[in-house]
Formats: sequence, structure tokens, C-alpha cells
Amino acid sequence: MPLTLRIVLAAVSGLAGIGAIYLILAPGKLPYERALELGAVTLLITVILLNTVWDAVNRPAPPAAAETGQTARLAPDGSPRTEEPILGEIARVLGLLKGHAEDNANFASVLDRANVELHESLKAGQVRTIISYLMVENDKMRSRTASLQTSLETSQRQIERLKSNLADAEEQGLSDPLTGLRNRRSFDIMLASQVAAARNSGDPLCLIIADIDHFKSINDRYGHPTGDEVLKWFAKVLSSNVKGRDTVARYGGEEFAIIMPQTTVDNASTIAGQIRAQLNAQFWQKPGAPNTMLRVTSSFGVAVLQPGEGTSGLIARADAKLYEAKAAGRNRVAV
Ligand code: GH3
Ligand code: MG
Ligand code: MG
Repeated sequence: MPLTLRIVLAAVSGLAGIGAIYLILAPGKLPYERALELGAVTLLITVILLNTVWDAVNRPAPPAAAETGQTARLAPDGSPRTEEPILGEIARVLGLLKGHAEDNANFASVLDRANVELHESLKAGQVRTIISYLMVENDKMRSRTASLQTSLETSQRQIERLKSNLADAEEQGLSDPLTGLRNRRSFDIMLASQVAAARNSGDPLCLIIADIDHFKSINDRYGHPTGDEVLKWFAKVLSSNVKGRDTVARYGGEEFAIIMPQTTVDNASTIAGQIRAQLNAQFWQKPGAPNTMLRVTSSFGVAVLQPGEGTSGLIARADAKLYEAKAAGRNRVAV
């Protein structure tokens, strides 16, 4: 019932009550018994309605969404929180530990009580009773500790599993499924961190971008799956030509990038030239098809980080050099 309607009803019944009081106090208008009945009924209705109004006015406000935890399942962007299972597991472990701490406190208070009683009552029968009581409590405590240990071990396994799932998901999100190299996202992250490191240290940082020549014609002639095999092989050739701190990534389709920290532009050009010559000197042989031999060549653009330059500037200059190499006839390195 709406609040205003309740207030109107309360006011009406209040007026009726006043009317009843008037009738009771004005002699001769109503028989004494009827006036009394009327007054009592009106008073009762007034009390009930006033009570309703009081409840409505003092009703507690509904709890906010944050208090009910309805929003806690979602991240600010509306996506489900990935850390929720781990947080849930941690909350479970904390609950177990809290329960165990309470059990410990109870057990300690049982021991304290027994200690006091042992001092007060030294009769053999009473001592025996206290000792058997303590043994029962001790057994309970031991079984609670054992079950806590089992639960903690289960939780530990669960957390390990969640951690490894998370690591797998992160790994999958950063690597290219075809070649196993870092993907574009991972390349962006790595390049940003290497540019920051080079700015701090003042060491030279080079970027090579490689693009397979006329790759579309390989797809067109031998099919997309063969093109995929060539991409995998090309990725291996690049990886086998770089050192530990260099990063090879698949930049896009048939374009690859090599980030080379602490490397001068001369050294980076030498590496690019070495890869180019290696590709040019051999044929790629299709597995299981000895007659399918392809010469796969690539063009390379090399750039070194300039003072005050960011990742996009470095990429743009390496890309411009790659374009130069393509325009000059492909199968070459432009620095
Ligand atoms: P250019 O020498 O100018 O680089 O010529 P190109 O043919 O290599 O370059 P273009 O950009 O014309 O074609 C690139 C082709 O690479 C087109 C696209 O279908 C192919 N490609 C991109 N990603 C993949 C992939 O994952 N697998 C296969 N098989 N082909 C791909
Ligand atoms: Mg290309
Ligand atoms: Mg190409």
C-alpha cells in the first residue's frame, strides 16, 4: 500500500477516534454502552494504522549493490574477473584457518578450565573424569587438524592448477599458433620495454622487419597449407640466426620482426644480410614432395632507435626501409 494512502487512513481513523470520544463525552447522544464499543473499535483501528505508518516510515533502505556483492563479479569494463577463482580459493583457505583458530581457542579454554578444576578438586574420581574429558577434546582437536591439513592440501593443488591455467592462457595470448613465435601483441609489449630500457641505458636498439618476397604466388601455386609450412620454416631460419636477448616475432601475415637490444646498426645489418644470403642460397623442400623445391627470398628493413624516438617512430622507419628494399627489386637489405 502506498505511504500517502496509509497516512490518509491514519488521519481519517484519528478523526473517527476524536468523533468517538466526543460521542462518549456528550451525554444523551448515544447509549453509554454503544459509545464505549464505538470508541474501543476506533481506537484499535487507529493503533493498527499508526503502527503501519510507523513501520513504513522507519523501514530500512535496501542494501546498496556493492554491499550485496552483486557488482563484485564484474570488472569495471563489464568482463568477468579472471582472478575470481583464485580469490575464492584464498577466501576458502582463510575461512578454514579462522575455523581452526577458533577450535584452538576453544581447546585452550577447555585446558584452562581443566587446570582450574584440577586445583580445586583433587578427588581421584573427579581427576579421572577431567582426564577422560580432555582425551575426548584432544581426539576431536586431532581429527580437526587432520581434516584441516587435507583441506589445505586440496586448496594448494587447486591454486597450483589455477596458476598453471592462467600461465597457459597468458602464453597462448602472446604467441603465434602457427609459428610458435611471439605474436604482434607480445611484440608491441617487448618493443615498448626495450625502447624504455635503451633510453635509460643509452645502448643502441635495432629493429629489423622482414617480409617474404612474392609470398602470395607461393600460396597461389601450391596452396595455403604449403604457404603455412613455408612460414613455419621461415620462422625457424630467423630464430636460428639470433642470440638470446634478441626477440623474433610474427608481425603479421608474412612479415616478421627482430628486436635487437644492445646492437649497433652495423651489426643488425650484418645479421639481416646473413639471413638474406642463407635464404637465397638454399631451396625449401616441401615435406613428402621432393620435386617441390622453392627458392624463398625475403626483403629486410633495418632501423636503429633515434634519441627521443618512440616505438611507432622506430617501426615506421624500419617499415620505410623495407619498402625501399622491395622497391629496389626485393631480396635485399635496406638500412
Ligand atoms: P611482396 O614481395 O610485395 O611482399 O609480395 P607478397 O606476395 O609477399 O605480398 P602480398 O601482401 O601481396 O601477399 C601476402 C600474402 O600472404 C597474402 C596472404 O594471403 C598471405 N598470408 C598472410 N597470412 C598468411 C598465413 O598465415 N598463411 C598463408 N599461407 N598465407 C598467408
Ligand atoms: Mg607483406
Ligand atoms: Mg611479402
